[in-house]
Amino acid sequence: MKINALVAHDATQPLTTGQIALRPLQPQDVKIDILYCGVCHSDLHMARNEWAVSRYPLVPGHEIVGRVVATGHAASRFKVGELVGVGVMVDACRECHFCQQHEEQYCEAGFVPTYNGIDRYTGDNTHGGYAQSLVVDQHFVVTVPKNLSLPGVAPLLCAGVTVWSPLRHFNVKAGDQVGVVGLGGLGHMAVQLASAMGAEVTLFTTSPQKGQDALRLGAKNVVVSKDAAQMTACQTSLDLIIDCVAAPHDLDPYLATLKTNGRLVLVGIPDKPHQSPNITPMVFRRLSISGSSIGSIQETQEMLDFCGQHNITADIELITGEEIETAFARMLRGEVKYRFVIDVQATCWGAVHP
Ligand code: NAP
Ligand code: ZN
Ligand code: ZN
Repeated sequence: MKINALVAHDATQPLTTGQIALRPLQPQDVKIDILYCGVCHSDLHMARNEWAVSRYPLVPGHEIVGRVVATGHAASRFKVGELVGVGVMVDACRECHFCQQHEEQYCEAGFVPTYNGIDRYTGDNTHGGYAQSLVVDQHFVVTVPKNLSLPGVAPLLCAGVTVWSPLRHFNVKAGDQVGVVGLGGLGHMAVQLASAMGAEVTLFTTSPQKGQDALRLGAKNVVVSKDAAQMTACQTSLDLIIDCVAAPHDLDPYLATLKTNGRLVLVGIPDKPHQSPNITPMVFRRLSISGSSIGSIQETQEMLDFCGQHNITADIELITGEEIETAFARMLRGEVKYRFVIDVQATCWGAVHP
Protein backbone atom coordinates (compact mmCIF):
# COMPACT_ATOMS: atom_id res chain seq x y z
CA MET A 1 0.00 0.00 0.00
CA LYS A 2 1.24 3.51 -0.89
CA ILE A 3 0.68 6.70 1.07
CA ASN A 4 1.42 10.39 0.57
CA ALA A 5 4.49 11.86 2.21
CA LEU A 6 6.93 14.79 2.12
CA VAL A 7 10.08 13.45 0.50
CA ALA A 8 13.65 14.75 0.39
CA HIS A 9 15.28 13.51 -2.81
CA ASP A 10 18.76 14.89 -2.18
CA ALA A 11 20.61 17.27 0.10
CA THR A 12 19.95 20.42 -1.90
CA GLN A 13 16.41 20.25 -3.28
CA PRO A 14 13.28 21.26 -1.33
CA LEU A 15 11.02 18.51 -0.02
CA THR A 16 8.19 17.54 -2.39
CA THR A 17 5.12 15.36 -2.18
CA GLY A 18 5.63 11.76 -3.11
CA GLN A 19 4.24 8.31 -2.55
CA ILE A 20 5.92 5.80 -0.27
CA ALA A 21 5.22 2.16 0.47
CA LEU A 22 3.87 1.31 3.90
CA ARG A 23 5.37 -1.67 5.73
CA PRO A 24 2.91 -4.62 5.52
CA LEU A 25 1.20 -5.12 8.89
CA GLN A 26 3.02 -7.77 10.94
CA PRO A 27 1.36 -9.72 13.79
CA GLN A 28 2.85 -7.42 16.47
CA ASP A 29 2.35 -4.18 14.49
CA VAL A 30 -0.09 -1.35 14.73
CA LYS A 31 -1.07 0.89 11.83
CA ILE A 32 -1.36 4.53 12.79
CA ASP A 33 -2.99 7.33 10.84
CA ILE A 34 -0.80 10.32 11.62
CA LEU A 35 -2.46 13.46 12.96
CA TYR A 36 0.52 15.63 13.92
CA CYS A 37 4.28 15.47 13.44
CA GLY A 38 6.78 17.84 15.03
CA VAL A 39 9.63 19.35 13.02
CA CYS A 40 12.88 18.53 14.84
CA HIS A 41 16.19 20.17 13.93
CA SER A 42 17.45 16.63 13.29
CA ASP A 43 14.95 16.44 10.39
CA LEU A 44 16.69 19.43 8.83
CA HIS A 45 20.20 18.02 9.50
CA MET A 46 19.05 14.75 7.85
CA ALA A 47 17.17 16.24 4.89
CA ARG A 48 20.31 18.29 4.08
CA ASN A 49 22.68 15.35 4.77
CA GLU A 50 24.56 17.43 7.35
CA TRP A 51 25.59 14.30 9.27
CA ALA A 52 26.67 12.56 6.01
CA VAL A 53 24.49 9.50 6.71
CA SER A 54 21.31 10.36 4.77
CA ARG A 55 19.93 7.89 2.26
CA TYR A 56 17.41 9.19 -0.26
CA PRO A 57 14.50 9.26 -0.85
CA LEU A 58 14.09 10.28 2.79
CA VAL A 59 10.86 11.08 4.65
CA PRO A 60 11.71 12.91 7.90
CA GLY A 61 9.64 13.10 11.08
CA HIS A 62 9.99 11.41 14.47
CA GLU A 63 7.62 13.34 16.72
CA ILE A 64 4.47 11.51 15.76
CA VAL A 65 1.00 11.54 17.27
CA GLY A 66 -1.80 9.60 15.60
CA ARG A 67 -4.69 7.22 15.92
CA VAL A 68 -4.50 3.44 15.71
CA VAL A 69 -6.50 2.27 12.70
CA ALA A 70 -5.48 -1.41 12.53
CA THR A 71 -3.67 -3.95 14.69
CA GLY A 72 -1.87 -7.20 13.88
CA HIS A 73 -3.33 -10.33 15.46
CA ALA A 74 -0.61 -10.44 18.13
CA ALA A 75 -0.70 -6.71 18.92
CA SER A 76 -2.89 -6.51 21.99
CA ARG A 77 -1.39 -3.43 23.70
CA PHE A 78 -3.43 -0.96 21.67
CA LYS A 79 -6.99 -0.81 20.36
CA VAL A 80 -8.28 0.65 17.13
CA GLY A 81 -9.23 4.29 17.80
CA GLU A 82 -6.60 4.85 20.53
CA LEU A 83 -4.39 7.95 20.41
CA VAL A 84 -0.72 7.02 20.47
CA GLY A 85 2.76 8.39 19.92
CA VAL A 86 5.92 7.23 18.13
CA GLY A 87 9.31 8.86 18.62
CA VAL A 88 12.80 8.37 17.21
CA MET A 89 13.03 4.56 17.33
CA VAL A 90 10.92 1.89 15.64
CA ASP A 91 13.00 -1.20 16.44
CA ALA A 92 16.18 -2.51 18.11
CA CYS A 93 17.85 -5.91 18.53
CA ARG A 94 15.96 -6.56 21.82
CA GLU A 95 18.66 -8.99 22.96
CA CYS A 96 21.73 -6.98 23.92
CA HIS A 97 22.49 -5.74 27.42
CA PHE A 98 21.00 -2.31 26.77
CA CYS A 99 17.80 -3.62 25.15
CA GLN A 100 17.36 -5.99 28.10
CA GLN A 101 17.81 -3.02 30.48
CA HIS A 102 15.09 -1.05 28.62
CA GLU A 103 17.65 1.33 27.15
CA GLU A 104 17.01 0.57 23.47
CA GLN A 105 18.47 3.95 22.50
CA TYR A 106 21.89 2.48 23.31
CA CYS A 107 21.26 -0.88 21.57
CA GLU A 108 24.64 -2.43 20.74
CA ALA A 109 23.43 -3.28 17.24
CA GLY A 110 22.14 0.29 16.85
CA PHE A 111 18.44 1.05 17.21
CA VAL A 112 16.39 1.31 14.02
CA PRO A 113 15.51 4.98 13.60
CA THR A 114 11.98 5.95 12.60
CA TYR A 115 13.37 7.28 9.33
CA ASN A 116 16.61 6.72 7.41
CA GLY A 117 16.97 3.29 9.05
CA ILE A 118 16.73 -0.20 7.61
CA ASP A 119 13.47 -1.98 8.41
CA ARG A 120 14.47 -5.30 10.02
CA TYR A 121 11.51 -7.03 8.35
CA THR A 122 11.37 -5.59 4.80
CA GLY A 123 14.98 -4.45 4.41
CA ASP A 124 13.64 -1.16 3.03
CA ASN A 125 14.39 2.36 4.23
CA THR A 126 12.25 3.34 7.22
CA HIS A 127 10.05 6.39 6.60
CA GLY A 128 9.08 9.01 9.15
CA GLY A 129 6.08 11.04 10.19
CA TYR A 130 5.87 13.67 7.43
CA ALA A 131 3.39 11.21 5.96
CA GLN A 132 -0.18 10.03 6.26
CA SER A 133 0.41 6.73 8.07
CA LEU A 134 2.95 4.55 9.79
CA VAL A 135 3.10 0.81 10.53
CA VAL A 136 5.21 0.07 13.59
CA ASP A 137 5.86 -2.65 16.15
CA GLN A 138 3.65 -2.06 19.21
CA HIS A 139 6.71 -2.18 21.51
CA PHE A 140 7.82 1.17 20.08
CA VAL A 141 4.44 2.85 20.55
CA VAL A 142 3.48 4.89 23.62
CA THR A 143 0.20 6.08 25.10
CA VAL A 144 -0.65 9.76 24.92
CA PRO A 145 -2.18 11.46 27.99
CA LYS A 146 -5.84 12.26 27.32
CA ASN A 147 -5.83 15.71 28.94
CA LEU A 148 -3.18 17.33 26.72
CA SER A 149 -3.60 19.20 23.44
CA LEU A 150 -2.43 16.80 20.73
CA PRO A 151 -0.37 19.15 18.51
CA GLY A 152 1.60 20.21 21.61
CA VAL A 153 2.20 16.56 22.55
CA ALA A 154 3.93 15.62 19.27
CA PRO A 155 7.25 17.37 20.11
CA LEU A 156 7.44 15.52 23.43
CA LEU A 157 8.21 12.33 21.47
CA CYS A 158 11.72 13.56 20.61
CA ALA A 159 12.44 17.00 22.08
CA GLY A 160 10.71 16.14 25.35
CA VAL A 161 12.31 12.77 26.00
CA THR A 162 15.77 13.88 24.81
CA VAL A 163 15.99 16.37 27.67
CA TRP A 164 13.96 14.28 30.14
CA SER A 165 16.37 11.34 29.90
CA PRO A 166 19.53 13.18 31.11
CA LEU A 167 17.57 15.12 33.73
CA ARG A 168 16.45 11.77 35.19
CA HIS A 169 19.65 9.82 34.54
CA PHE A 170 21.75 12.43 36.36
CA ASN A 171 19.19 12.66 39.19
CA VAL A 172 18.15 16.28 38.93
CA LYS A 173 16.05 17.05 41.98
CA ALA A 174 14.16 19.89 43.60
CA GLY A 175 16.44 22.79 44.45
CA ASP A 176 19.16 21.88 41.93
CA GLN A 177 20.55 24.68 39.80
CA VAL A 178 20.08 23.64 36.16
CA GLY A 179 21.26 25.52 33.08
CA VAL A 180 19.70 25.13 29.63
CA VAL A 181 21.56 26.39 26.55
CA GLY A 182 19.40 27.48 23.59
CA LEU A 183 15.68 28.17 23.63
CA GLY A 184 14.59 26.06 20.67
CA GLY A 185 12.55 22.87 20.52
CA LEU A 186 14.69 20.87 22.96
CA GLY A 187 15.61 23.86 25.11
CA HIS A 188 12.07 25.03 25.76
CA MET A 189 11.13 21.50 26.85
CA ALA A 190 14.19 21.35 29.14
CA VAL A 191 13.17 24.62 30.80
CA GLN A 192 9.64 23.34 31.41
CA LEU A 193 10.58 19.83 32.56
CA ALA A 194 13.47 20.84 34.83
CA SER A 195 11.43 23.55 36.51
CA ALA A 196 8.48 21.15 36.97
CA MET A 197 10.95 18.79 38.71
CA GLY A 198 11.63 21.63 41.16
CA ALA A 199 15.00 22.71 39.79
CA GLU A 200 15.89 26.40 39.51
CA VAL A 201 16.53 26.97 35.81
CA THR A 202 18.92 29.42 34.14
CA LEU A 203 18.44 29.81 30.40
CA PHE A 204 21.43 30.77 28.26
CA THR A 205 20.36 32.29 24.97
CA THR A 206 21.84 34.15 22.01
CA SER A 207 18.43 35.80 21.49
CA PRO A 208 17.67 38.39 24.20
CA GLN A 209 14.11 38.74 22.90
CA LYS A 210 13.36 35.17 24.04
CA GLY A 211 13.90 36.09 27.71
CA GLN A 212 10.24 36.76 28.54
CA ASP A 213 9.18 33.44 27.04
CA ALA A 214 11.83 31.62 29.06
CA LEU A 215 10.51 33.15 32.28
CA ARG A 216 6.94 32.23 31.31
CA LEU A 217 8.09 28.64 30.67
CA GLY A 218 9.54 28.44 34.17
CA ALA A 219 13.14 29.77 34.03
CA LYS A 220 14.24 31.79 37.07
CA ASN A 221 17.17 33.49 35.30
CA VAL A 222 17.97 34.41 31.72
CA VAL A 223 21.58 34.97 30.65
CA VAL A 224 22.45 36.39 27.24
CA SER A 225 25.43 34.23 26.34
CA LYS A 226 27.00 36.84 24.04
CA ASP A 227 27.27 39.23 27.02
CA ALA A 228 30.56 38.43 28.79
CA ALA A 229 29.55 40.34 31.94
CA GLN A 230 26.37 38.30 32.30
CA MET A 231 28.34 35.08 31.81
CA THR A 232 30.89 36.12 34.45
CA ALA A 233 28.13 36.98 36.91
CA CYS A 234 26.86 33.39 36.97
CA GLN A 235 30.21 31.60 37.27
CA THR A 236 30.31 28.47 39.51
CA SER A 237 26.54 28.58 40.13
CA LEU A 238 25.12 25.51 38.35
CA ASP A 239 24.93 21.78 39.10
CA LEU A 240 24.09 20.58 35.59
CA ILE A 241 23.68 22.13 32.14
CA ILE A 242 21.79 20.70 29.17
CA ASP A 243 23.26 22.14 25.97
CA CYS A 244 20.66 22.04 23.17
CA VAL A 245 22.45 24.11 20.53
CA ALA A 246 22.44 22.83 16.95
CA ALA A 247 25.71 24.54 15.94
CA PRO A 248 29.38 24.34 17.03
CA HIS A 249 30.30 26.74 19.83
CA ASP A 250 32.82 27.37 22.62
CA LEU A 251 32.03 25.15 25.64
CA ASP A 252 34.48 26.86 28.05
CA PRO A 253 32.17 29.74 29.08
CA TYR A 254 29.53 27.16 30.07
CA LEU A 255 32.00 24.98 31.96
CA ALA A 256 32.91 28.10 33.94
CA THR A 257 29.31 28.42 35.14
CA LEU A 258 29.37 24.94 36.73
CA LYS A 259 30.00 24.34 40.43
CA THR A 260 32.77 21.88 41.38
CA ASN A 261 31.52 18.38 40.39
CA GLY A 262 29.17 19.97 37.85
CA ARG A 263 28.22 18.34 34.55
CA LEU A 264 27.66 19.68 31.06
CA VAL A 265 25.35 17.39 29.07
CA LEU A 266 25.50 17.81 25.30
CA VAL A 267 22.35 16.86 23.43
CA GLY A 268 22.73 19.13 20.38
CA ILE A 269 24.48 17.41 17.46
CA PRO A 270 26.10 20.07 15.27
CA ASP A 271 27.29 19.19 11.77
CA LYS A 272 30.86 20.19 12.78
CA PRO A 273 32.62 19.53 16.11
CA HIS A 274 32.77 22.00 18.98
CA GLN A 275 36.24 23.37 19.60
CA SER A 276 38.02 21.29 22.26
CA PRO A 277 37.32 22.48 25.80
CA ASN A 278 40.05 23.65 28.15
CA ILE A 279 40.84 20.60 30.30
CA THR A 280 42.52 22.44 33.20
CA PRO A 281 39.38 23.76 34.95
CA MET A 282 37.75 20.38 34.32
CA VAL A 283 40.55 18.67 36.25
CA PHE A 284 40.78 21.14 39.12
CA ARG A 285 37.01 21.33 39.64
CA ARG A 286 36.16 17.70 38.74
CA LEU A 287 33.82 18.76 35.93
CA SER A 288 32.25 16.29 33.50
CA ILE A 289 31.07 16.53 29.94
CA SER A 290 28.47 13.93 28.90
CA GLY A 291 26.44 13.21 25.83
CA SER A 292 22.93 11.80 25.85
CA SER A 293 20.92 10.15 23.11
CA ILE A 294 17.12 10.55 23.03
CA GLY A 295 15.52 8.32 25.70
CA SER A 296 14.11 4.83 26.04
CA ILE A 297 10.54 3.79 25.33
CA GLN A 298 10.00 3.43 29.08
CA GLU A 299 11.38 6.93 29.71
CA THR A 300 9.20 8.29 26.91
CA GLN A 301 6.10 6.90 28.62
CA GLU A 302 7.24 8.22 32.02
CA MET A 303 7.85 11.66 30.53
CA LEU A 304 4.44 11.68 28.82
CA ASP A 305 2.72 10.69 32.07
CA PHE A 306 4.66 13.43 33.93
CA CYS A 307 3.60 15.96 31.28
CA GLY A 308 -0.01 14.79 31.67
CA GLN A 309 0.19 15.31 35.46
CA HIS A 310 1.89 18.71 35.18
CA ASN A 311 -0.04 19.89 32.13
CA ILE A 312 3.12 20.37 30.06
CA THR A 313 3.12 20.56 26.26
CA ALA A 314 5.37 22.17 23.68
CA ASP A 315 4.75 25.75 22.54
CA ILE A 316 3.97 25.16 18.91
CA GLU A 317 3.23 26.82 15.60
CA LEU A 318 0.92 24.61 13.57
CA ILE A 319 1.74 24.42 9.85
CA THR A 320 0.66 22.28 6.93
CA GLY A 321 3.09 20.21 4.89
CA GLU A 322 3.12 22.90 2.16
CA GLU A 323 4.98 25.20 4.57
CA ILE A 324 7.84 22.87 5.45
CA GLU A 325 10.62 24.75 3.63
CA THR A 326 9.63 28.06 5.27
CA ALA A 327 9.67 26.26 8.60
CA PHE A 328 13.17 24.86 7.92
CA ALA A 329 14.43 28.33 6.94
CA ARG A 330 13.07 29.88 10.13
CA MET A 331 14.54 27.05 12.19
CA LEU A 332 17.96 27.77 10.69
CA ARG A 333 17.61 31.38 11.83
CA GLY A 334 16.65 30.27 15.38
CA GLU A 335 13.23 31.84 14.86
CA VAL A 336 10.95 29.02 15.96
CA LYS A 337 8.49 29.54 18.82
CA TYR A 338 9.28 26.89 19.83
CA ARG A 339 8.41 23.94 17.62
CA PHE A 340 6.74 23.70 14.23
CA VAL A 341 4.19 20.92 14.08
CA ILE A 342 2.74 19.65 10.81
CA ASP A 343 -1.03 19.20 10.77
CA VAL A 344 -0.88 16.10 8.60
CA GLN A 345 -4.61 15.82 7.97
CA ALA A 346 -4.82 19.47 6.87
CA THR A 347 -1.97 19.03 4.39
CA CYS A 348 -2.93 19.31 0.74
CA TRP A 349 -0.71 16.61 -0.71
CA GLY A 350 -1.05 17.82 -4.29
CA ALA A 351 0.19 21.31 -3.52
CA VAL A 352 3.51 21.18 -1.73
CA HIS A 353 5.66 23.95 -3.17
CA PRO A 354 9.30 24.84 -2.61
P1 NAP B 1 16.20 24.26 17.36
O1 NAP B 1 14.76 24.26 17.69
O2 NAP B 1 16.66 24.81 16.08
O3 NAP B 1 16.95 25.00 18.59
C1 NAP B 1 18.32 25.23 18.63
C2 NAP B 1 18.58 26.50 19.46
O4 NAP B 1 20.00 26.63 19.62
C3 NAP B 1 18.16 27.77 18.77
O5 NAP B 1 16.80 28.08 18.97
C4 NAP B 1 19.07 28.79 19.43
O6 NAP B 1 18.55 29.21 20.69
C5 NAP B 1 20.33 28.01 19.74
N1 NAP B 1 21.40 28.40 18.83
C6 NAP B 1 22.37 29.25 19.14
N2 NAP B 1 23.19 29.42 18.11
C7 NAP B 1 22.75 28.66 17.11
C8 NAP B 1 23.17 28.44 15.79
N3 NAP B 1 24.27 29.05 15.29
N4 NAP B 1 22.46 27.61 15.02
C9 NAP B 1 21.37 26.99 15.51
N5 NAP B 1 20.92 27.17 16.78
C10 NAP B 1 21.60 28.00 17.56
O7 NAP B 1 16.79 22.77 17.42
P2 NAP B 1 16.26 21.50 18.26
O8 NAP B 1 15.25 20.77 17.45
O9 NAP B 1 15.97 21.91 19.64
O10 NAP B 1 17.57 20.58 18.21
C11 NAP B 1 18.78 21.03 18.80
C12 NAP B 1 19.90 20.07 18.47
O11 NAP B 1 19.68 18.85 19.19
C13 NAP B 1 20.03 19.69 17.02
O12 NAP B 1 21.40 19.57 16.68
C14 NAP B 1 19.37 18.32 16.95
O13 NAP B 1 19.80 17.54 15.87
C15 NAP B 1 19.81 17.76 18.26
N6 NAP B 1 19.00 16.64 18.77
C16 NAP B 1 19.66 15.69 19.50
C17 NAP B 1 18.96 14.63 20.05
C18 NAP B 1 19.68 13.62 20.88
O14 NAP B 1 19.23 12.48 20.97
N7 NAP B 1 20.76 13.98 21.54
C19 NAP B 1 17.57 14.53 19.85
C20 NAP B 1 16.93 15.54 19.12
C21 NAP B 1 17.66 16.60 18.59
P3 NAP B 1 18.77 30.71 21.23
O15 NAP B 1 18.12 31.59 20.21
O16 NAP B 1 18.07 30.69 22.53
O17 NAP B 1 20.24 30.92 21.36
ZN1 ZN C 1 14.37 14.82 16.99
ZN1 ZN D 1 19.96 -4.18 21.44
